[in-house]
Amino acid sequence: MPSYTFRCEDCGDFTLFFKSMSGNKETAECPHCHAVGTRVFLAPNLHKLSRAVSSRIEKGMEPQRMTRNELGPKQPKKKKKMNRPWQVG
Ligand SMILES: [Zn+2]
Repeated sequence: MPSYTFRCEDCGDFTLFFKSMSGNKETAECPHCHAVGTRVFLAPNLHKLSRAVSSRIEKGMEPQRMTRNELGPKQPKKKKKMNRPWQVG
């Protein structure tokens, strides 16, 4: 679901989710004060965000990678012992 961020002069940024990409998404009504907000393009401004915020965004977008060491070499293989009644066969 595409999401767009808009900026309200009074309330600041707000994000809306749309069911489709079609239609005019350059302006949107502020959910707080119902003023017309203008579209904000966040991607080019990512470097302006704090490190904590940008890393949170990156973690949300990318699958978490784990090295073999992080997983632990002695981790027991639960797969074979796991009871999976939902699996047929
Ligand atoms: Zn507003």
